[in-house]
Amino acid sequence: MTATVMEARDLVQTYAVRQGPFQHAALHAVRGVSFELRAGETLAVVGESGCGKSTLARMLTLVEPPSEGRLLIDGRDATRPTRAELRRLRREVQMVFQDPYGSLNPRKKVGAILQEPLVINTRMSANERRKAAREMMERVGLRPEHYDRYPHMFSGGQRQRIAIARALMLRPHIIVLDEPVSALDVSVQAQVLNLLNDLQQEFELAYLFISHDLSVVRHVADQVMVMYLGRPVEVAHRDDLFAAPRHPYTQALLAATPAVNPEHRGQRRALSGELPSPIAPPPGCAFHKRCPFAVERCTSERPELRLVEGAEVACHRAEEVLEAERKSA
Ligand code: ADP
Ligand code: MG
Repeated sequence: MTATVMEARDLVQTYAVRQGPFQHAALHAVRGVSFELRAGETLAVVGESGCGKSTLARMLTLVEPPSEGRLLIDGRDATRPTRAELRRLRREVQMVFQDPYGSLNPRKKVGAILQEPLVINTRMSANERRKAAREMMERVGLRPEHYDRYPHMFSGGQRQRIAIARALMLRPHIIVLDEPVSALDVSVQAQVLNLLNDLQQEFELAYLFISHDLSVVRHVADQVMVMYLGRPVEVAHRDDLFAAPRHPYTQALLAATPAVNPEHRGQRRALSGELPSPIAPPPGCAFHKRCPFAVERCTSERPELRLVEGAEVACHRAEEVLEAERKSA
């Protein structure tokens, strides 16, 4: 069995927010996320804007410690690392953002951008660094002459290649990608996703791949975690999730993405209503106000994740949901 490179145990992130001049409230951005990520594997995290994906990413990349819960990297505790541990761990876990322009220094040339992590974290000589940067450029499909160009001289897809190359310079084992292709045209998306796939094979990378777009998730994921208001509501193998979604929220997301499942078009109900406030999450199942299957119990008793036909789902009525799904197929 492949090694687990990252493990989250009940991660929680709560922010104190102002609600008026003298009032503060607790905003529950992430309310209990657990998973195991293995070498060479992609775990996709999907859900509407505001469900806590980027907050989760910041905890996993050690930008913010969780309010509660534990994070393990390569089997070692990484929840509240010391400065020395943080230095070491940051080499293991790198991040790629949606907007590479925002994360690439506009005043530096590509060569310098790629060398920067090596300058900070290694004792490599200038020559060794130049060589490493040039090699990585070739691996991500950038041309040698790009070495002396500035980020603004590139297209969005090429800028994302630069960001990916920079993330790989320290040879991490884990990459957290937060909506890495969401800002790109569909044709360019496919190229960048193919590149990520090649690099994953070559470097045995584990990806935690965040997206709001199920058609992208279908392309990249081994496992999928569907989040709603800070919690996972369904965790399944990619094929299981797309063949037979067990949670009404997953069904609604699929209904809103006809490209991934045309045979179901129009049969599933699209989402109605808005994401409730993370300052006052609804009692019981957080999804009950928007759920076509909700019954009395859902308004008071919170469903825990449980196994239903091989996938984990947090829904009291998952069996009925699956049944309805099969009838409509
Ligand atoms: P997503 O990436 O899924 O769109 P986020 O993780 O960005 O969601 O946000 C989840 C919730 O947490 C949102 O309600 C957002 O407004 C809130 N939030 C995120 N970061 C902070 C912060 N630093 N302080 C207060 N609230 C935050
Ligand atoms: Mg986000």
